[in-house]
Amino acid sequence: MAKKIRIAIDGVSSSGKSTMAKQLAKTLGFIYIDTGAMYRAVTLFFLQNQVDMENPDSVVKTLENITITFQQTDQGNTCFLNDINVEKEIRGMEVSQWVSQVSAIPAVRRKMVSLQREMGEKDNVVMDGRDIGTIVFPDADVKLYIHSPARLRAERRWLELKDSNPAITVEEIVNNLEMRDHIDSTREDSPLVKAEDATLLTIRI
Ligand code: C5P
Repeated sequence: MAKKIRIAIDGVSSSGKSTMAKQLAKTLGFIYIDTGAMYRAVTLFFLQNQVDMENPDSVVKTLENITITFQQTDQGNTCFLNDINVEKEIRGMEVSQWVSQVSAIPAVRRKMVSLQREMGEKDNVVMDGRDIGTIVFPDADVKLYIHSPARLRAERRWLELKDSNPAITVEEIVNNLEMRDHIDSTREDSPLVKAEDATLLTIRI
């Protein structure tokens, strides 16, 4: 099988990575993989099943019962958790509050990284996340790292969330984004960091 092409797009939360990655995948005819959706799906499962995230044994046992796949639907490449479409649930604020804590657990990362590598063996991919250019595919063919000011990102996210959650404020979103960026970039296992050979894009719009 010919070696597949991998494009890695990493960066801070809600920086526009996924919009860019989706568009790029569409233009190139590649598969778009939203790795954040995978960590969100694990988090949703942990919350739904009240898993004790501090207990490594229950985390490992729970991970054995989780299957995450992507399927093409009219919403695009859609995330399924144990064969259920969870695209809507994983975008809510409760999952956003917990996802960075769950993503910092090494057993969770091991499972997600191995799934992501399998996907990148099968197809040409544009993958967005936090550790794609550093850990998942250090030899990716193209690496981008996106940065953008938190308030600007929060204002954009507010526009996306306000209809489904009219009570939400920009301030609440800024706090959530800053908290996630902090946990993501200071965790021990595969922190969010620009790969040395990634191209930095700073977005100010
Ligand atoms: O991309 P998105 O903001 O949906 O990602 C949600 C969370 O998933 C991030 O804040 C981060 O904690 C985690 N994540 C990660 N590694 C990735 C992708 C996402 O740790 N490759």
